[in-house]
Amino acid sequence: MKFQALLEEIYNEVQPLFGQGQVADYIPALGKVDPRKFGISIQTVNGQSFETGDANEKFSIQSISKVFNLAMAIRIVDEQLWERVGVEPSGNPFNSLVQLEHERGIPRNPFINSGAQVVIDILLEHLDNPNEEMLSFVKKLRYEDVYYNDAVFQSEKEYGYTNQALVNFMKAHKNIMHPVDTVLDVYYHQCSIEMSCHGLAKSFLFLANNGIIPDTGERILTKSQTKRVNALMLTCGFYDQAGMFAYHVGLPGKSGVGGGIVAVIPEELSIAVWSPELNTYGNSVIGMKVLELLTTRTGKSVF
Ligand code: GLN
Repeated sequence: MKFQALLEEIYNEVQPLFGQGQVADYIPALGKVDPRKFGISIQTVNGQSFETGDANEKFSIQSISKVFNLAMAIRIVDEQLWERVGVEPSGNPFNSLVQLEHERGIPRNPFINSGAQVVIDILLEHLDNPNEEMLSFVKKLRYEDVYYNDAVFQSEKEYGYTNQALVNFMKAHKNIMHPVDTVLDVYYHQCSIEMSCHGLAKSFLFLANNGIIPDTGERILTKSQTKRVNALMLTCGFYDQAGMFAYHVGLPGKSGVGGGIVAVIPEELSIAVWSPELNTYGNSVIGMKVLELLTTRTGKSVF
């Protein structure tokens, strides 16, 4: 498969879609990003790399960090996690309070904000410094410099009214054990992680490789745990647009409001796309289209 030629072809083909979405501005620091940024990186489990555009420029990975968060927690508590968070698609916006009220403080899945916040609360029981551990975990997966963007962190914190409401509400339902501010500090840090498409694609490769980092042979998750994380990405990775992503793309993936999307083709490759203009669901317009064209043209998906 001539991935490089295909990437260039798709890169050019989606150019007319610029201007259709909007850069996230509910966190002011995110609103400053150039809407024309656009990068794609494909990394294969056998060490090949295909990239185009701004594939090596770092951006705010936002909710993509929820996958690292989940993988870290599964490594520590495994199935016990599911006593406090569900595994069902939410069909609701990522920061919805309505469903949480209905379901008495048990989030639908670990990829909506409330779900990630419960996962953080669990990590806090086991780790002295989850912020440091998160960076070491991501470094282990990709060997590159990864860091928190302080301006984004501060902005998230300053405008985090809905996230505060979510964590407070879950605490009222006894599904948060630590102080609300402690949980939110870790949450805002995770959202502010900066990485490039290259780094993201590299760090997700273990999910395309049955839980093992291809470069080092180190096992991160068991085969069965990897299947579960991928299943959750397929069914819950795009909030209330998860069905659409499965329908058009057919891969496990995860988006963030920084405009990044990462997806994996099991046993083969991982792909990261970055284009900051979002649709109304908070997913990158161009990122979704790139992945749809890629799976359609190659005929590859999990189905
Ligand atoms: N920082 C964002 C928030 O909590 C993350 C949401 C996202 O990327 N979907 O609102």
